[in-house]
Amino acid sequence: MVKPLNQNVVTNLQRTGIRRFNELVAKVPGAIKLTVGEIDLPTPPNTKLRGINAITENVTKYTPNAGDLELRSAISEYLEQHYQLNYSAKNEIIVTVGGSEAIDTIFRTLLEPNDEIIIPAPCFPGYLGSGILTQSNIVLVDTCSSEFKLTPQQLEDAITPSTKLVVLNYPNNPTGSILTVSELEKLAEIIIKHDLYVLTDEMYATLVYDDIGIAPSIASIQGMKERTIIVNGVSKSSSMTGWRVGYIATSEKIVEQALKVHQYAVASPASMAQKAAITALTTDFPETQKMALLFERRRDILVNSLNEIGLKFNRPVGAFYCFLDISEFGMDSWSFAEKMLYDYKLAVVPGSSFSKYGDNFVRLSFAVDEQIIVEAMKRLSAGVASLR
Ligand code: PLP
Repeated sequence: MVKPLNQNVVTNLQRTGIRRFNELVAKVPGAIKLTVGEIDLPTPPNTKLRGINAITENVTKYTPNAGDLELRSAISEYLEQHYQLNYSAKNEIIVTVGGSEAIDTIFRTLLEPNDEIIIPAPCFPGYLGSGILTQSNIVLVDTCSSEFKLTPQQLEDAITPSTKLVVLNYPNNPTGSILTVSELEKLAEIIIKHDLYVLTDEMYATLVYDDIGIAPSIASIQGMKERTIIVNGVSKSSSMTGWRVGYIATSEKIVEQALKVHQYAVASPASMAQKAAITALTTDFPETQKMALLFERRRDILVNSLNEIGLKFNRPVGAFYCFLDISEFGMDSWSFAEKMLYDYKLAVVPGSSFSKYGDNFVRLSFAVDEQIIVEAMKRLSAGVASLR
């Protein structure tokens, strides 16, 4: 008899709802996919060229575990330029295999079984998987009635003596919410009072609208830098999901420990992808800003159509998702999404993929061409009319 696998943790882990739903979508020819979690445009040309040149120049070997020092320096300058934050390229930054590895590495570095992590929900499913794997206690805070923003009162109420880490993800996947500096300041006060760590997932920081420029970081608030772990990367900001480059920026004390976890798991990301990321964060940064302008137009088209159809939603100010309230239809999010898929050939992500607090919603991505949004809205309008 073959011995069982890790039943305690791994075999009980569920695949994400997004993956499971996408398997259904793949079997429906002609479905319009508002399910996508990545930019539809190619990686900017100079960035691609840098990757190609790196291969030609034989940059095809291991880099230091913490990442190519030239990239770490570019990340350090980026954080200085956009947030006036000083992180040492040598001691306070780790280049990771996308934001996903950054999150997982930090969870495994910080958390022991039964430590509590506070996660505002609905949330990116990666936190749930990595949280379960560390056997820590995930404390979800329902933000559905506070515009998907964690409020100081909600945070205070969720804290117990076992709380160790708070996860913030603004701009937020799946809701497009962001927090203002003054909202972050109020959370910071509580986090400092209770002596907690914060993981701030800023993967969508540059994809913000309404003249915000770049989303503020809680690390910039007085007293927060030493207890904050910034997670970011080029996947979303530079349309580089396949290159697999992210990073962690935090104190030397945390980096020293996280580096061991990272080293044993991955050694380092691909050397040529790291070179390309340097160009993405420097020469090609204007491309990132152009993408944000394009996405703002798409957001507006989507939001105007949803208003015309008379649907309820929170107007997204960041990321490229709109979380649509479907509570008026009296259906769970999976049934609603299946109906739209099979009857109207429109694919949207069931909100239950983003924790139990997402079940009255579906996520619409506007990382698709304007014409596709227009056609999708026609299908949604017909689908909604049939349910009213
Ligand atoms: N964090 C958030 C909020 C995300 O939405 C995603 C991807 O969807 C990630 C992290 C993971 O990013 P990466 O593709 O760089 O691993």
